[in-house]
Amino acid sequence: MYDWDSKIQFLSGVGPKRASLLQKELEVETISDLLHLYPFRYIDRSKYTFIADIHPDLAWVQVKARVASRNLISMKHLSVIIEDETGSMEIVFFKGNKYIFEKLVPGSEFVFFGKPSLFNGKLNMVHPEIDSPGSINAQGTLTGVYPSTEKLKNGGITGKVMIKLIATALDQCLPHIEETLPDYVIKENHLVPLRFALQNIHFPKDQDSLSKAAYRLKFEELFFLQLSLLKQKYVRSRAENGIPMPKVGKDFNACFQALPFELTGAQKRVIKEIRADLTSGSQMNRLLQGDVGSGKTMVAVLTSLIAVGNGYQSCIMAPTEVLAQQHYANISKYLQPTSVQCALLTGSTTAKERKRIHAGLQDGSIGIIVGTHALIEDVVQFHSLGLAIIDEQHRFGVDQRSKLWAKGRDGCPPHVLIMTATPIPRTLAMTLYGDLDVSVLDEMPPGRKPVQTLQIGQDKRYQLYNFMKQEIAKGRQVFVVYPLIFESEKIDLKNLQNGYEDIVRNFPYPPYKVAIVHGQQNNDEKNFNMAAFVAGRANILVSTTVIEVGVDVPNASVMVIESAERFGLSQLHQLRGRVGRGADQSFCILVKDVKLSRESQKRIDLLCATDNGFEIAEEDMKMRGPGDLEGTQQSGLPIALNIASLSKDGLLLSQAREYAQKVLDADPGLDFPANRLLARELRKDKYDIKDYSKIS
Ligand code: ADP
Ligand code: MG
Repeated sequence: MYDWDSKIQFLSGVGPKRASLLQKELEVETISDLLHLYPFRYIDRSKYTFIADIHPDLAWVQVKARVASRNLISMKHLSVIIEDETGSMEIVFFKGNKYIFEKLVPGSEFVFFGKPSLFNGKLNMVHPEIDSPGSINAQGTLTGVYPSTEKLKNGGITGKVMIKLIATALDQCLPHIEETLPDYVIKENHLVPLRFALQNIHFPKDQDSLSKAAYRLKFEELFFLQLSLLKQKYVRSRAENGIPMPKVGKDFNACFQALPFELTGAQKRVIKEIRADLTSGSQMNRLLQGDVGSGKTMVAVLTSLIAVGNGYQSCIMAPTEVLAQQHYANISKYLQPTSVQCALLTGSTTAKERKRIHAGLQDGSIGIIVGTHALIEDVVQFHSLGLAIIDEQHRFGVDQRSKLWAKGRDGCPPHVLIMTATPIPRTLAMTLYGDLDVSVLDEMPPGRKPVQTLQIGQDKRYQLYNFMKQEIAKGRQVFVVYPLIFESEKIDLKNLQNGYEDIVRNFPYPPYKVAIVHGQQNNDEKNFNMAAFVAGRANILVSTTVIEVGVDVPNASVMVIESAERFGLSQLHQLRGRVGRGADQSFCILVKDVKLSRESQKRIDLLCATDNGFEIAEEDMKMRGPGDLEGTQQSGLPIALNIASLSKDGLLLSQAREYAQKVLDADPGLDFPANRLLARELRKDKYDIKDYSKIS
């Protein structure tokens, strides 16, 4: 009657209204979508929690309790006190109140199931599910908890309804569901059949069946993801359209020999990896990850010089004007021993200079161009662009990157090196950049003092200001950063403004000078204030996270982060990287709220405990889930994962990738009859991510 692709609307119990709700809230359109919406956890509904044991961090609780009293505070607000032998708590309803009021007769016993929360410092539960004790005990099995939203619940699609819908769908469809993996894949990986997996992921017979079902579904998801990515990588490397750059050239050697320091082992390794790409005949698509200060710029310069040595130009793009200027200044220094011409092109380049640069790029006399988005304007034409280096890739939009791509000579795309200081955990990199090659600078240049990281409460502000004064007296500079979260930009800005005023009061002029930078300022104002701090004219820079990316002020030795609990781990780490660039001991001071959630405290503790960006990124992913990872918005994941987790299933991901590689090694085009199902799956829209690598 129904099949896999039937619209959800026709399932009994759904109808047009619920269908549109399911689509809007959960992107469930078809029966297949519904059956692929898996419980995110299971509860043993034969177990109860005592009220005394409830705390707000619990995701769900089930309590068996008596109604002690009920109070209809208003038509829209029903408060009910429930109690068991260990204590009492409030449950609250904002709708359906008349019906619920009549049902919850004082003295009667019910099973309440819901999420505990804290309101005005007191525990309560809003809109719990209510059952009579008998109906629950009878089940006594693992019950799935499905993703839900307030709108779904208001529209009548409660957890119970969801379970019913899925039961109906399974009932009607299971016999018709076709296997999606070839027999040999199932056998070699010891997987259970799809039908068994779907049945048991929704209604587990027991824990063992659930584990087998979950394993099969996770493997399948990760396997297809890797198969699609690796297949593209294979197709592209076969295209062999890379510009060959066999030499290193005299300028590379001149620069290299004049370096005042020895390259770190990691830098040497990465340059070797890049050299191998450039001589391979295929186009390079490489991601270079390295903590702030690990020496990425050096790698960018040497790579650019290889391009120049082979008769090509290189462009280096930075996300902001300030960064582009800084890159330009650093790069020019490194280029002094060479004969290479380097120029800077940004939004504020004068018309005259711009004209000169355009001409120099077109006739090839400029070998290395550093700049911002101004570089990708249509008027910018290269003589022979052979290499594009993109710093902090996530700040660039998709269109912008593909525009750059099109600037190669004779339709031959430039080699691409993407540099990022936001370390991405290996498992995530394998997925996000599954078809990019990844290099890692995991070694810091010698002689750096690790930044000392401390946490203090808001109440220690006086001591903090004294400490800042001591550091300023030594001639150092201080960053003070405030959080900015878009939904409440006004409030954030007010916090920043108040903070700024407080600092100005405590650090009066003269002798102190305080600069402020935030997103609401126009560019001139921003650049002016920033420049004042960079040049050492201001002692303190109060700002939002605009300074997060790359700015280099070696004389700044203190980073104060206000409301540190409101930042993500990676972001805190990035901010910390702004100090510790000079020879002095540097400090990062996390100012936190008096009351913190456990999660926030954990983040802050971790940051104080380690300065290894990869460790932090790994933890960040575990705590927040990969979708939330900074620099990798949800849409950054090429394919949404329904059941596998990049943070928890890293090992399975590697296995799935290896296995996908094995399948492709044997049958690169997936043309064998045995691989018919695989080829069919990859033809689905969701795997249509062909431009992904080109633009990332
Ligand atoms: P990143 O771009 O990764 O943040 P940079 O390239 O700006 O790092 O390097 C940070 C600082 O370290 C710069 O002052 C640079 O000159 C210096 N540096 C880079 N490589 C080395 C090295 N191998 N030994 C010593 N200092 C280095
Ligand atoms: Mg840098």
